Amino acid sequence: MLDAIVVGGGPNGLAAGVTFAKAGHSVEIWEANDTIGGACRTGDLVGLGCRHDLGAAVQPLALASPFFRSLELGSHGLAWAIPDISAVHPLDDGRAGVAYRSLDETAQRLGIDGDRYRNMLRPLVADSQGLLDFALRPQRSIPTAPATALRFAGRAPLPASWLARRFRTDEARGLLAGHAAHAILPLGRPLTSSFALLFAVTSHGDGWPIPIGGAQAITDALASAFTSFGGSVRLGARIDDLGDLPKSRVVVLALTPRQIDRIAGGALSGRYRRALRRFRYGPGALKVDYVLDGPVPWTSVEARRASTVHVGGCFEDVAQAEHDVAAGRIPERPFVLVSEPTLFDPGRGIGGRSVVWAYTHAPRGCDVDFSSRIDDQIERFAPGFKDRIVGRHVTRPSQLEASNANLVGGDVGGGSYAGRQILFRPAVRWNPYSTSNQQIYVGSASTTPGAGVHGMSGMLAATTARTHLETK
Ligand SMILES: Cc1cc2nc3c(=O)[nH]c(=O)nc-3n(C[C@H](O)[C@H](O)[C@H](O)COP(=O)(O)OP(=O)(O)OC[C@H]3O[C@@H](n4cnc5c(N)ncnc54)[C@H](O)[C@@H]3O)c2cc1C
Repeated sequence: MLDAIVVGGGPNGLAAGVTFAKAGHSVEIWEANDTIGGACRTGDLVGLGCRHDLGAAVQPLALASPFFRSLELGSHGLAWAIPDISAVHPLDDGRAGVAYRSLDETAQRLGIDGDRYRNMLRPLVADSQGLLDFALRPQRSIPTAPATALRFAGRAPLPASWLARRFRTDEARGLLAGHAAHAILPLGRPLTSSFALLFAVTSHGDGWPIPIGGAQAITDALASAFTSFGGSVRLGARIDDLGDLPKSRVVVLALTPRQIDRIAGGALSGRYRRALRRFRYGPGALKVDYVLDGPVPWTSVEARRASTVHVGGCFEDVAQAEHDVAAGRIPERPFVLVSEPTLFDPGRGIGGRSVVWAYTHAPRGCDVDFSSRIDDQIERFAPGFKDRIVGRHVTRPSQLEASNANLVGGDVGGGSYAGRQILFRPAVRWNPYSTSNQQIYVGSASTTPGAGVHGMSGMLAATTARTHLETK
């Protein structure tokens, strides 16, 4: 009998597997797809021989993650490009908010807001590792850097719209809007400042890295580490019922609540199942991958050097777009996240072509292809962009889910961040990774700390399960 089986081979499933295998436990990962990696994979989506990321593309949380820091993934082939500019937020008149890795350089560009921006972030950036260590764990954890955590906690509960009121320039307000919109919530909701602050901190700390070769390189390195510790992977192994698995002492489900209720419900208490059923999913995503015959002609020269460009215009425009999404309307001018990996990793394009990754938030349940609005938004800040398109591939929310059952309705966040789910995922419990059954654990983006390629949910679920394994 195996010690552990992990269901789901995304970054969290791999992190759970590595955690068991490294501790000497026998473990297998069961993955539904024929390739491992979940929303951390790369492939030729457009059909022109280039390498496009199917899900995650830019990895601020991987560098910061205590899980990733505990591994030597360089020796498993993983290398990063870390641009000097993490994020750019272009505005209509050619100006832009620019998040350089250097906080001082960023502040200098913000005019009358410079000092205020620097003062707000300097204490957090100075101890960014301590802060992220705290933010990437359940909130009951004792912070290793209590002063930094307290400073963060002082502002994090605010709506991003309140935080933005402290700033006068469109550049500073735009930067905050772009970071906060990663919450996929209206910017007037409480706690959206926590996203604005954390993304700002990572942008000025380790930066927003892009893995050479694409997100697949992260997955391949994790899989290589996993097998080197003795773990094994089963591909094309979709689990519809826990009873389909061979016997093991514990199971970690790196899945979302709806799947867990369906697959493992019979082994869980009625109370825990009701909690799973109360879990809310977030809006979907509409993704467009492009091949261009040259780089994106951004008006802002800094955008041509940035890891990510937050396309949406001034704070009010971004707020309106996210408000529309939450209200079930397709935004006229959607907020779009754009990255052009070939600027830093030219090998991903063929014959000098550029690869561009873009996605926007789509109202929940909406499966309409409104990608022409994504094209229009990029063209708005990069005139001539459309003329450079030689190939284009649209992925609608339903297609995201078809490629990976964890992306329920195209939800890229593993569940909504509204209300208590920003802090308590998937249910309000002392230990979010445990269930009502001591043999079953949960370790996907639907658990604390949530979405992103950081592996913390998988690692913490496996760590909890190990306590059971090692005390029995
Ligand atoms: C379009 C998009 C863009 C994103 N951009 C970024 C980004 O730039 N940076 C970032 O940090 N994060 C980004 N994310 C989020 C990030 O990719 C996810 O948070 C992360 O991959 C979650 O990891 P996971 O292991 O929990 O789940 P997933 O990566 O979703 O993996 C789940 C795995 O479980 C498998 N599975 C599901 N059901 C079963 C079953 N019944 N049996 C067996 N296997 C099953 C699936 O096939 C899949 O392989 C993005 C996500 C998407 C979709």
